[in-house]
Amino acid sequence: MEEFEDLEKTLSKILKDNPTDYNALNKLGYIYLHSNNFFKSQEFYIKSLASEPNQFEPYVSLALIYTIKLRLGKSLYYLLRAKEVNPESPEVLTSIHEIKTAIIKKEGNLTSENIDKLLSEALEKVTIENFEEALEIYLKLYCALPEDENILFNLALTFLKNDDYGLSFEFFEKIISKNPANSMAYHYSGIVSNILKKPEKAFNFHVKSLELNPSFADILFNGKYGYYRKDIEYQEEYLIECPNCGHKKTKIISVVNQSISSLNFNLINPLRKWVECKNCTLVFSNPRPTKDVLKQYSFELSIHAKDLLEKSLSNLILENNAYNERLNSIKKYIQKGKCLDINSNTGIFVSLAKMKNFDVFAIEENLLKCNKIKNIYNLNIENISFENFENNENSFDLITLWESFEKISNLDDYLNKIYKLLKKDGIFAFSLHTINSFFAKTLNYSYPLWYYPDHLYFFDSELLKTKLKKYGFEILDVQIVGRDYLSNVEFYCKK
Ligand SMILES: [Zn+2]
Repeated sequence: MEEFEDLEKTLSKILKDNPTDYNALNKLGYIYLHSNNFFKSQEFYIKSLASEPNQFEPYVSLALIYTIKLRLGKSLYYLLRAKEVNPESPEVLTSIHEIKTAIIKKEGNLTSENIDKLLSEALEKVTIENFEEALEIYLKLYCALPEDENILFNLALTFLKNDDYGLSFEFFEKIISKNPANSMAYHYSGIVSNILKKPEKAFNFHVKSLELNPSFADILFNGKYGYYRKDIEYQEEYLIECPNCGHKKTKIISVVNQSISSLNFNLINPLRKWVECKNCTLVFSNPRPTKDVLKQYSFELSIHAKDLLEKSLSNLILENNAYNERLNSIKKYIQKGKCLDINSNTGIFVSLAKMKNFDVFAIEENLLKCNKIKNIYNLNIENISFENFENNENSFDLITLWESFEKISNLDDYLNKIYKLLKKDGIFAFSLHTINSFFAKTLNYSYPLWYYPDHLYFFDSELLKTKLKKYGFEILDVQIVGRDYLSNVEFYCKK
């Protein structure tokens, strides 16, 4: 016992200097396990796995602790994690078999009432994001009812939410082998394949999923707003080089089925391949929708916006506040003058800019939006694309481009023209989503940006800064602001 105490002191000292030393954490976990202090043992093993998830022993020990505590679902969870690290271990395979048998013995005769109760308990745990406890329940149910597709599905999905990607994939595969018509299982297998860095696999899963269910988002609208069509050729263009640097080598990084959250009006292929340039790291859609089809899409979206997005008060407040804050940021550099707003969309920004003493001129390619802005705000607006817009050089004190940067096919022409139209010391402000923002990194596969049919790029902030400097802009400020469905990154630049 004394020896233990000495060792414990030595290890605690090591951890004081380096709290993530997983070897020391494991040793302490082991010491406490063998002195029957399961609570402390568990604590050190969990810390150890947080420092280094790709270990075998802590999973096996945690499984043992939960077996002793008779929490067999949780024990099975840790054994499955151990099996992922070491799939051939006879010790683990035997233990899995034993635990499953014990669970079946204990839970095998569940009444349908009990099953419903357990399912709703698990769902509650998922709702409060306590995924591990939900998994404990689902795993027990799975042992008792291994053929139940609903339980398998919930289990696979909760593994995904708990970031257990390998196990999630394994269980979606089980569903597919039982029911090859389960389009959702294919869909999620696609999502997990992207995370596991197997985009070619993701592509095949998403094709299969779309063949079985051509639209997930449009169920409520009976196909009115678009679905995947194998029988038509989408208006797409293949890029043979990176649209930023011209490099020819790219790699696919993600393939998504956009129909899960976006409507395509039968115009834009919901199957989207995102590739990354091996030289400059720009992420772009390839193939991508053509300029013509993007214009048609924008038109359809504005026709149906009323049915689909019915301008809610909360959306109006969000946009109004966002544009107010953007104007305040601009006002740090410029107080008044001639403002050109490109792609004015709802017109909220230009109406605010006018109120704050800017002499506003707006252009909007979409005739419906353009007329709406004219009617509501009585503004100086022209129905024209920026490409066809003609004006003297050095004319504007401020040029703004909100919420449309990622939709512009010929970005270089835009930046060149914007620079020329600005007066010396004029301000260029725009917004976009970037791939390296806190939001994109944290939300990962569920980041909505992957699902906008009319978006063509994902910039990294540094890459974009280099590009702006190349066109002569001086970057005054880059702001990252949480704005729900609006862009999260704002650039303020000077000519
Ligand atoms: Zn490139």
